[in-house]
Amino acid sequence: MKFKLLSLMMIGGSLAISCQQQSADNFNYADEKFADIQMLRYKVAGFDQLTLDQKKLIYYLHEAALVGRDILWDQNGRYNLRIRKLLESVYTSDVLTDKNSDNRKAFEEYTKQVWFSNGIHHHYGSTKFQPQFTEEWLREQLDAIDYKEELPEGTAILEKASETWEELMPVIFNPEILPMRVNQKDGDDLILTSASNYYGVDVTQSEAEEFYENMRDPKDSEPIMYGLNSRLVKEGGKLVEKKWTTDGLYGPALQKIVYWLEQAKPYADTDQQKIVIDKLIEYYQTGNLKTFDEYCIEWVKDTEGLVDFTNGFTEVYGDPLGLKASWEAIVNFKDLKATERTKKLSANAQWFEDNSPVDPRFKKEECKGISAKVITAAILAGDLYPSTAIGINLPNSNWIRKEYGSKSVTIGNLTDAYNKAARGSGFGKEFIIDQKTRDLIEKYGDACDDLHTDLHECLGHGSGRLLPGVSDDSLRAYGSTIEEGRADLFALYYLADPKMVELGLVPDQEAYKSNYYTYMMNGLMTQLVRIKPGHNIEEAHMRNRSWIAHWTYENGKEANVIELVKNNGKTYVKINDYEALRSLLGQLLAEVQRIKSEGDFQAARELVEKYGVKVDPELHEEVLARYATLNISPYKGFINPVYSLEKDTDGNITDVKISYDEKYDAQMLRYSRDYATLPLIN
Ligand code: ZN
Repeated sequence: MKFKLLSLMMIGGSLAISCQQQSADNFNYADEKFADIQMLRYKVAGFDQLTLDQKKLIYYLHEAALVGRDILWDQNGRYNLRIRKLLESVYTSDVLTDKNSDNRKAFEEYTKQVWFSNGIHHHYGSTKFQPQFTEEWLREQLDAIDYKEELPEGTAILEKASETWEELMPVIFNPEILPMRVNQKDGDDLILTSASNYYGVDVTQSEAEEFYENMRDPKDSEPIMYGLNSRLVKEGGKLVEKKWTTDGLYGPALQKIVYWLEQAKPYADTDQQKIVIDKLIEYYQTGNLKTFDEYCIEWVKDTEGLVDFTNGFTEVYGDPLGLKASWEAIVNFKDLKATERTKKLSANAQWFEDNSPVDPRFKKEECKGISAKVITAAILAGDLYPSTAIGINLPNSNWIRKEYGSKSVTIGNLTDAYNKAARGSGFGKEFIIDQKTRDLIEKYGDACDDLHTDLHECLGHGSGRLLPGVSDDSLRAYGSTIEEGRADLFALYYLADPKMVELGLVPDQEAYKSNYYTYMMNGLMTQLVRIKPGHNIEEAHMRNRSWIAHWTYENGKEANVIELVKNNGKTYVKINDYEALRSLLGQLLAEVQRIKSEGDFQAARELVEKYGVKVDPELHEEVLARYATLNISPYKGFINPVYSLEKDTDGNITDVKISYDEKYDAQMLRYSRDYATLPLIN
């Protein structure tokens, strides 16, 4: 599970009043803006202090990460790789002279959006981008360049380039075609109406659900993650899984990943890491999900080294049924100093479990192997790039988490970059009710946001247990948002616990209020800046922030715990009783854990549909108008650093260098050139 940016940082930024564009360390954290996006850069502090072997390990693992890029593009939609090729042909062509027209500018913006989302649908909202240039203009450009010439050798492509255009044009321009990447609308056939490429075009939701229902054995106490690594298609009227393996679907990309993993192996940081790499290679070669579980278990055990990585089909947010995993990768190394913080939490995991407000039947009797650390990201790839998570907790398999534990990370250098890039945005001044509350958030905000992430990842996801016989995915389409909300509630509940002060994680018993305020403000109001007028909330994390905030607001109404007050026509969140709010959060945590542990689909659906999905149109309009005056990009993502090998005259590697000056479009074009591993149609 991954943890996306929380509250203020996510959309505005921290509340520091000072307005410095460049940080004291002279590093450019903020880069270009386009559409609703701000590009940032992260600094890989500490890389120069690593040993040469560790640097080589990171280098080879970073190649294994980047080379998987095309997989995600194809998973996000069956036309994406072809459209990317088409757009890049026009973007880079030097025969075109039309570089300053409005159409061209709109085209460049669109291309940057498509790169950012790894496809033609918004990375977060999941709706299809509507180009602001005309189809006629694009056709003129394509006529002017020899599009077919641009296609790589061996590409499975239609006979005539023009036929390809004809197929792609409606996909790009017609808003009715494939409007959503992931449709979560209750009552729709979620598979037929989602553009993501995890199921054949003619597979229905009920067929897919039945297919996987039949595979399950409710008595199996160690179930594999059914359906995780395949596309489900119909062949001759029969449903079959096309597995993603080195000789199956996505084979050419997976073969290259395996090649780089083999290069990395001799430099593994620990002997255990060599076992991990071997298991991962075996899994990519066989597609056997039992092997994947074995790999996860070995990976959880590998905690001694400094360098770590994940590379694989991991998170299921992109599949409306929550079964099939998008491909992603990250390479990182431990931030030893900051890890002290998370060690304190994991060392007390059992205490947190025992003292939570949850019914004892749903608690873990023994918390095993939760290892938590703060890491420095060295490269982001697949579904973690350019938009990324700031915390990750893996593996996702419930029985492995129960038997072997999980690894939880907070990505320190990314959070740091968000904070530094966002100083002085004016966001807090606009939306926070008064100076007193702004001061509170200024004083404690950054530290409490970090702690919230740690609690969410290293304790929240790891807490609780399913009752025997309840399957991992019994909450179906509501599973992701319930799980994310559960982890958030665990974090919120404990942020206010005196234990935090006792452990020295917050300075005093006031600090948690900063996080409570920003969480409620975000869930009730400000996250709406990411939603277009008339749209519902779709994304799992946004839904959970909404249902937590609205449930506590409604249930605290009688006691006047939280109010929405108006001042000069502007709405503000006012929290009257922080302690009562904590106890509401505790109640909701207990209920949500019950829903999860019992697999109570109906209750999950009611909670999410009632509090998490719908938007008050009037408040929405107001929030959008206020936000527009601030000129802040609601989404952020990262440009990766560039790694290069230094060699002596005999060709031996003497060092690995890192640089931070590559432009966003240059990086995307380089990746498309150097890491194009798949045919355009898969
Ligand atoms: Zn999470």
